[in-house]
Amino acid sequence: MATDKILIIGANGQIGSALLPYLRALYGEEQVIAADIRRPTTVDSRFELLDASDAQALAALVRRLDITQIYHLAAILSANGEADPLGTWDINTRTFLNVLEVARTQGVQKVFFPSSIAVFGPNVNREAADQFSYLAPTTTYGLSKAACENWAAYYFHRYGLDIRSLRYPGIISHETLPGGGTTDYAVDIFHKAVLQETFTCFLKQGTVLPMIYMEDALLATLQLMEAPASFVRIRTSYNLQGFSCSPEAIVSEIRNYFPKFKIIYAPDFRQAIADSWPRRVDDIHARNDWGWKARFQLDAMTVKMLTSLEQRYGVTSVLSGSSSYAV
Ligand code: NAD
Repeated sequence: MATDKILIIGANGQIGSALLPYLRALYGEEQVIAADIRRPTTVDSRFELLDASDAQALAALVRRLDITQIYHLAAILSANGEADPLGTWDINTRTFLNVLEVARTQGVQKVFFPSSIAVFGPNVNREAADQFSYLAPTTTYGLSKAACENWAAYYFHRYGLDIRSLRYPGIISHETLPGGGTTDYAVDIFHKAVLQETFTCFLKQGTVLPMIYMEDALLATLQLMEAPASFVRIRTSYNLQGFSCSPEAIVSEIRNYFPKFKIIYAPDFRQAIADSWPRRVDDIHARNDWGWKARFQLDAMTVKMLTSLEQRYGVTSVLSGSSSYAV
């Protein structure tokens, strides 16, 4: 572990903001390099400005820093992607192929890339999407992730590149705001609750989607990356399930602490994307192959989100009995 030199590409985003301190705590501050096309808002002496579409810049960085592992997070997400389908395809696949080629030619030992539940289309079993479902995604984002999964398997079989991947569900976290996905509402809703504002939801009641709390997503990522290579039998991407919920289920949990919390439903184009995705995925292979088990369900995640955001906004804790603002 101590000799690994890790590069996180897309480190300023929702996942990177949590993954960076998590990996630095495990591998050492010096061993984990953050890279992104945007500068971070806080000073980080181990940050590198990088456009991962630039294959030469990426190769030079990997060579200069003797990188042994890459976590490739950079992508345009599902909802934002629909504004520019071809551009999204281009960025998502080009950056990924650059990472594969650099890893292969520079002898990078391990690569992680996140896929998504967006690889599934409306044809799958929506109550328990099977690992090996026929993938017929309806978004450019889903198309790009499905293609990248197959390229990952190709590089594993053809070149022996040790590449590992998870099909993340919607990730709920408090560190940063999410980056333009279809499950973003499930993060925004907690901010509005703590700020005691009415929340306008872009999905309608009854829209059940698979979600996962960030702590669980990080745990799953590390478990997969640290598993012996022989345990990792799926080299496209593993289904991963945290818990599944609808907007009204989250509201109901929030109202245990903020009884006056109000929601308005105003579905937009993201409803069609959500309707094309499964309500739950079957992650039996992750459980069997490397021991995955989700720790957080909706109730425990709600407490963590509200507590963390109360601290962030300086709101005296409702969870410990008093609900007045500190400022
Ligand atoms: P995000 O949009 O919050 O962050 C992506 C980061 O990549 C941004 O900081 C952006 O500046 C950077 N980036 C974009 N283009 C780049 C480029 N050309 N070169 C370098 N950096 C670039 O996304 P996220 O939510 O952190 O997601 C990270 C990954 O996880 C993505 O691949 C996404 O598809 C996947 N994923 C996320 C979720 C989720 O709920 N957040 C769910 C499933 C899969």
